Amino acid sequence: MWKTLGHDKAVSSLTRAVGEGRIAHAYIIVGPPSVGKMVLAMDMARALNCDQDAPPCGACKQCTRITNALHPDVRVVERELDDRGRRRTVIRIEQVREIQREASLKPYEGASRVYIFDGADSFQEAGANSLLKTLEEPPDQVVLILLASSAEAIMPTILSRCRRIDLRPVAPKLIAEHLTQHHGSDPEKADEIARLSAGQIGWAIRAVDEPELLERIGQQTDAIEQAVQSGLESRLEYAAQLATRFTRDRTDAFAELGLWLGWWRDVMMISEKTPQLVRNTSRMAALQAVADRLDERRVADVVRAVGRTIELLERNVNPRLAIEELMLAIPMPQPARQ
Ligand SMILES: [Zn+2]
Repeated sequence: MWKTLGHDKAVSSLTRAVGEGRIAHAYIIVGPPSVGKMVLAMDMARALNCDQDAPPCGACKQCTRITNALHPDVRVVERELDDRGRRRTVIRIEQVREIQREASLKPYEGASRVYIFDGADSFQEAGANSLLKTLEEPPDQVVLILLASSAEAIMPTILSRCRRIDLRPVAPKLIAEHLTQHHGSDPEKADEIARLSAGQIGWAIRAVDEPELLERIGQQTDAIEQAVQSGLESRLEYAAQLATRFTRDRTDAFAELGLWLGWWRDVMMISEKTPQLVRNTSRMAALQAVADRLDERRVADVVRAVGRTIELLERNVNPRLAIEELMLAIPMPQPARQ
């Protein structure tokens, strides 16, 4: 049984490839965070090593050991933690070299050695070059699987040597069904989480198990609505706070900007008369109020401005300046009527 959900095309083509023994030496799975890249890679590792008739069975010794991260021939390589327990920004060349040494050996007990590189868009340049050598002369019985949220940061020479699998966001309806059937979520909650997940099924499952995730989003969305509804002074205060958080917890700060994008996208859905596509369903009143007072073009301008801010911050511009500029790009609320 494949555990991958919502990516039927990828699964059926891989099932055929495994059945016919047409497995490539290297794959790259590209898709947004939490969309199922790692689940698919682990499925592939099981399918390649399973010793039953319809691999991956999920139950044989090979499959079970892979699922429990106990299989000596299947390894996940990811950015390591530094001395202070923070995730490094790159996969280091030493990690790539270690894999290269190991990859030249025969599998210990499975049929294939499988190396999964999580965050293939964050190789150190020397590491990428070194990996390229393995891709050019791949050892037998070795399959490399690279996972990346975008193909842009990957060297074209690496891309061209991998079979590419693109994973798109999973349909919210499918996610909601999965949450009710397998994670004990009630249908209403499941629908809310599925919409908020924007197709990132892994995130949706976490949100059911960790209620504090949704709580945090609630707080952040409150702050966003407050900034939208307030004047310049409060907005600049908000910009200063968010900019400070950028230096402390970049991921959390980026997540908040992602919420800005989602919130304004929802305003756009209402403006365009497609409210059924709104993701922040519990925020309908505030979204509607903004959609009522701005015309469609202004709303589209704001969506673009948020997108541009995220892009600039990814390129490491000064967070405070970028966020202040965004605050100015959002139309001010109308003064209260006397
Ligand atoms: Zn099996």
